[in-house]
Amino acid sequence: MEKNSEIYPFLEKGEFPDIDSTKLKIELTKNPKKKPEPDAMKFGINFTDHMLEVDWIKDQGFSAPRILPYHNFQMDPATMVLHYSVEGFEGMKAYKDKNKNVRLFRPEQNMKRFLNTAKRLALPDFNPDELLKCLEKLVLIDADWIPEKEDFSLYIRPTIIGTTPALGLRTPTSMKIYVILSPVGPYFSAFKPLKLWAEDEYCRAWVGGTGNAKLGGNYGPTLLPGMKALEKGCEQILWLYGPEKKITEVGAMNLFGFWKNKDGEDELITASLDDGLILPGITRDSILTLARGWGEFKVSEKDWNIEELMEAVKENRMYEMFGAGTAAIVSPINVINFHGQEYKIPLDPDDPNSGAGKITKRIKKEIIGIQYGEIEHPWSVILKDK
Ligand SMILES: *Cc1c(COP(=O)(O)O)cnc(C)c1O
Repeated sequence: MEKNSEIYPFLEKGEFPDIDSTKLKIELTKNPKKKPEPDAMKFGINFTDHMLEVDWIKDQGFSAPRILPYHNFQMDPATMVLHYSVEGFEGMKAYKDKNKNVRLFRPEQNMKRFLNTAKRLALPDFNPDELLKCLEKLVLIDADWIPEKEDFSLYIRPTIIGTTPALGLRTPTSMKIYVILSPVGPYFSAFKPLKLWAEDEYCRAWVGGTGNAKLGGNYGPTLLPGMKALEKGCEQILWLYGPEKKITEVGAMNLFGFWKNKDGEDELITASLDDGLILPGITRDSILTLARGWGEFKVSEKDWNIEELMEAVKENRMYEMFGAGTAAIVSPINVINFHGQEYKIPLDPDDPNSGAGKITKRIKKEIIGIQYGEIEHPWSVILKDK
């Protein structure tokens, strides 16, 4: 992979130590927490006993990584992350299969994206493979926290923050990478189709901006438009972009449509990554790869817009739509509200009570099968204690 310092020589970090998993120090908790009941596992409110931390200081390089009891941070009120949002994150999951193996799903892809996010924040390179080794050790240490229940998993949140305690807006001279873990139940228990508010006043991302990086700064500002959508009776926002009202993403998920296009071909369509508006989702990539593998219909990454979508709905050419991301895998969509007009998106006409379209259900089944090891696939990695 290209190094940050190769693109931006001013980030040259010299011969200082990189993250080194062989130096990992482990301090186990003396006060294990009580684990929550599966029913109480709302998304991201319970955390496990341990966390991973590694610090970087300019002209010193990376500290030895540490697995420590879960704890609060103390920081100077001037710390950079608190003022200028020098923060990026990842979202991934660990699963327990029926043989009690702990599995990750394409974790090297998350590490690669995490490094790209760090680059966008002008933070130094690190070795993503070494970080992954430390993260895997953390997951194994807290493996008892992974609920052994279908659709349950351990959400993993790697985070990177600029820690320089100074108000001057300069590239950070110190940072921290840390990883916390949270046991989670299914994001939406059964399929619950979403109503979307097609938003053309606010936008989530723009050409030349940071939509393609998982920066904390991208998400806080979506809360106000999110409230507007709720007020209109919709659960999520369909983010439109530009005068042509391009279809980009839904909430914090990638968006797919399955339709008969104008040329009369069945096509699975999602926005292309080319103009940097779209977060390159690993679920998105997995869906594209699986659907191309089926070879049953056209699979496209290209621009499409709200006009084309409305036209397809009116002409009964839209078969189904869904959002895609790690938290819910796929979320069916059944209504799009644009300027107060509701457009109904079909679910499965042969099984309306299932709450999702045929392709949506098939994708979910296949990805869950891989994640929980029911389907053998190189994307699913079994963690082993060395
Ligand atoms: C994280 C995220 C996604 C989904 O990415 P996955 O890797 O599939 O979890 C999509 N869109 C946005 C805006 C995101 O933040």
